[in-house]
Parts: sequence; C-alpha cells; structure tokens
Amino acid sequence: THFGFETIPESQKESKVGAVFSSVARSYDTMNDLMSLGIHRLWKDHFVRSLNPGSPLPARDGDKSGKGWNILDIAGGTGDIAFRMLDHATNINNDRETRVTIADINPDMLAEGKKRSLDTPYYNTGRLSFMQANAEHMPSIPDNSVDLYTVAFGIRNFTNKQAALVEAFRVLKPGGVFACLEFSKVNNPLFNEVYKRWSFGAIPLIGQIVAADRASYQYLVESIERFPSQEEFRAMIQEAGFIIPGKGYENLSCGIAAIHKGVKP
Ligand code: SAM
Repeated sequence: THFGFETIPESQKESKVGAVFSSVARSYDTMNDLMSLGIHRLWKDHFVRSLNPGSPLPARDGDKSGKGWNILDIAGGTGDIAFRMLDHATNINNDRETRVTIADINPDMLAEGKKRSLDTPYYNTGRLSFMQANAEHMPSIPDNSVDLYTVAFGIRNFTNKQAALVEAFRVLKPGGVFACLEFSKVNNPLFNEVYKRWSFGAIPLIGQIVAADRASYQYLVESIERFPSQEEFRAMIQEAGFIIPGKGYENLSCGIAAIHKGVKP
C-alpha cells in the first residue's frame, strides 16, 4: 500500500492512530468540510434526527438512572454529535435531562471538544461530560447503564472493532440502542469510480495543502477502503449480541456513508 499501516504491529497501530488525530485535531472541521464538500454536516444531522434523543423512553424495570437519556458518544472528539443530540433533545423534545458523555482516546481531540463546548449552552451543566477512554475497554462505565451508544466516524480507526462492539453491548441497558455513522461502500459502480478518484487523488492533496499533513489524510482514505462492507459490518454487530432492526443499515449518499443500528435484547 501507499502508506503501509498494515505492516506495522497492532501494538504500534494505536499510537500511530493517536498521532494522526493529534495532528488533525485543529484543522479537523475545515478538512471535513473540504473532503466531503460539507455533506458530513447533513449526514450528522440526519443521524441524530433518526435517533430522536430525548424522546420518551419505555419504562425499564429497575432503572434508576433518572429521567432523560443517558448517552455515550464514543470517539466523540470534537463534540459534533454530542452537541447535536443535546440540541435535538432540548429543542425538539423539550427535554433538559438527557446527558451525553463524550469519550475519546485522544486528549487533543477531547481538548478541542471542551473548547468548543464553551460556545454551547451545555458547558458546565450536568448534561455534558468528557472522558478519556479506549472504546475497546471502558471499565469505568458500568454494565447496563447506557440508553444510547453513538459512534460517528470512529470505529473505523479502532484496533479491535469486535471488542468495541462487545463493550458497547455490555454498557447498554436492555432495550438500549447502538448507532454507528461511518464511511461505507458505494453501491453504484460508475459513481464508485468517481468517488475513488476523488478520495485517493484529491483528499491527500487537500490534506497536504490545507493541513500540511499528507500522511494523515492518506491514512484516513486507506482506513475507509479497508473498512468492512455494510453487510459485513452488520454481521459483526449481530455477532456482538445485538438484534438487528429491519435491514440493519441505511446508506447515505449512495453508500459513501452508512448508519448501522443494533438493539440490545
Ligand atoms: N465523532 C467525531 C465526528 O464525527 O466528527 C470525531 C470522529 S474522528 C474522525 C475519530 C475519533 O476517534 C478521533 O477523535 C480519535 O481520537 C478517536 N478514536 C480512535 N481510536 C479510538 C479508540 N480506540 N477509542 C476511542 N476513541 C478512539
């Protein structure tokens, strides 16, 4: 491959991924906008709308976690998904109890999220908290404690994706929802050609010019290429113990991205 991430041992992969995100933390938004032509914002809006956070929860036996939803946003970095979920709960469902924990392995991404939270109404309220954690192992989060687990453009970077899915299953309450927004496989061969050219050609170049960091963006493109197909990823979610609702996934923009869901029985 161009960059050779596969050839480095798993033990070093984590620090390599860490370096990628430390290096992109500040230019993160600009780059997302450039790379996706701004469309990632629409995908994120749609993702959150489809989850309808803060809507009435079914009564759960023995649940003492209080009113509102207890949400865990994994790889939540900059807060993109968390702030949207809190806005949705507040403005659409008139719910001021729903709270989100943003967990991320990378302190620089968390710092960026904290900085951005200063401009939101959730800063220093009980509704938003930050936690440095590896999605594959989160001993500080109790079993059966989370109503909604979200991961947006994160799981692709995890060393052991199946371990993260099993950990998601553990922390969710019965009836709780796993929801993932991630790059996926384009379903139209002709469009796929155009898309491949764009991603392998333009994205590393944009990274070089805008962020002076070609290698990190080359890594991002290759990690998208290596990520399992919609059907393969659905099977992994099922393997972790989740019930798959309906088809299990929704393609966005011809499959450039997809939303996968699973429900803990
Ligand atoms: N969710 C945000 C969004 O949609 O814009 C940020 C996504 S960013 C592309 C990927 C994030 O995954 C980075 O902040 C990175 O630090 C985090 N990450 C990578 N490996 C992780 C792991 N094992 N556990 C938790 N977070 C991880």
